[in-house]
Amino acid sequence: MDKIKVSTPIVEIDGDEMTRIMWKMVKDKLLFPYLDMELEYYDLHVSKRDETDDRITHDAAEAIKKHKVGVKCATITPDRKRVEEYNLKQMWKSPNGTIRAMLDGTIFRSPILVDNVKPAVKSWTKPIAIGRHAYGDVYKNVEMRIPGPGKAEIVFTPDNGGETRRMVVQQFDGPGILQGIHNLDSSITSFAQACFTYAYDRKIDQWFSTKDTISKTYDARFREIFAHEYEENWKGKFEEAGLTYFFTLIDDAVARVMKDTGGFLWACKNYDGDVMSDMVASAFGSLAMMTSVLVSPHGYFEYEAAHGTVQKHYYKHQAGEKTSTNSMALIFAWTGCLKKRGELDNTPDVVEFAKKLEESAVETIESGIMTGDMTRIAEPKPESHAGTEEFIDAIAAKLNTKL
Ligand code: NAP
Ligand code: MG
Repeated sequence: MDKIKVSTPIVEIDGDEMTRIMWKMVKDKLLFPYLDMELEYYDLHVSKRDETDDRITHDAAEAIKKHKVGVKCATITPDRKRVEEYNLKQMWKSPNGTIRAMLDGTIFRSPILVDNVKPAVKSWTKPIAIGRHAYGDVYKNVEMRIPGPGKAEIVFTPDNGGETRRMVVQQFDGPGILQGIHNLDSSITSFAQACFTYAYDRKIDQWFSTKDTISKTYDARFREIFAHEYEENWKGKFEEAGLTYFFTLIDDAVARVMKDTGGFLWACKNYDGDVMSDMVASAFGSLAMMTSVLVSPHGYFEYEAAHGTVQKHYYKHQAGEKTSTNSMALIFAWTGCLKKRGELDNTPDVVEFAKKLEESAVETIESGIMTGDMTRIAEPKPESHAGTEEFIDAIAAKLNTKL
């Protein structure tokens, strides 16, 4: 068989521990035999980051800016223990945080569904994707303990010497607490653009929710910016594609989501997204069945798994014990990346290959071959679980029948 040509380089970002082991297996067994592709490789192994004083992480993000599409393995975010374990010069920042800041993106998470795992919410038959705003609000707050009676105010002093604005938050009679939060029109606009891009790309409806009945200025600003962005840039396209944009109150959205069938993007403010993405992931089954993509308003895309490096399994692997680690989210990071590359390059055979690989992976699980995390939640429950490599081999066998 002739290999399928991927015409533009893909930025490949390697990582740590068990995901690094699986990363190589996925490439060797599911990609290289079928694809002729040029990879611009960045090794973000924690020791490499240390060796380069984290230069390599910045280089990887720059490469995504250049080539537009990248795929990333999970990486260790060092804490004190890791500094000791790998003898690091310092506690390097989270690579995901660094890359996100450089690409200015929004993260979207979406579960992979299989027939033999039923979501905890019975009505969910299609994936629910969550788009979480990743700037401001309580994550960039200032707060203080109030020791006793006194007046708390918010004050805005314009740079251009205009009139200072001042509002009383509370006249305290006794001890209490106080918090100041903010957001930026530019960041909310980027977030809205990324959400509409993602939903339109996948041809799914979009929901957005805030608490604008209570927060008539702050949350209402989110609603206004989304509405403006929709009216100006997306309404025509959405209507033509038969898609809807739906705004509602956060509590109404939560109530509706429990009765809905799924199949939409739920755009969430920072805190809502933090909480709701964990709820949705857990209701759909396993962390290893959750994909993640960073979409930047400048047209850059970075695909990854939502889970970490699966440290405990790695230690077992190192000790020579058999592991059963699920490679689904890593495989879907690659297929997501290939589909996007194929779409941008206008090479439908690359997109077609990625879809066949996704089908093969899903059908493998549906045929009863799955890793330990899945046997715990699958119905019917298989008699045994597949090893890490065995599972990938089974997918390769299925893929071979489709090509
Ligand atoms: P984790 O790697 O996501 O794993 C937590 C647990 O979830 C595992 O012990 C395992 O449970 C289960 N699990 C996750 N992925 C699985 C898979 N593919 N197959 C089977 N089971 C899976 O989180 P962590 O242990 O808290 O973090 C480990 C390292 O990952 C940390 O150094 C952290 O900094 C890093 N991390 C990186 C990213 C990223 O790069 N995107 C994200 C999060 C964390 P059982 O042990 O019960 O089998
Ligand atoms: Mg959370």
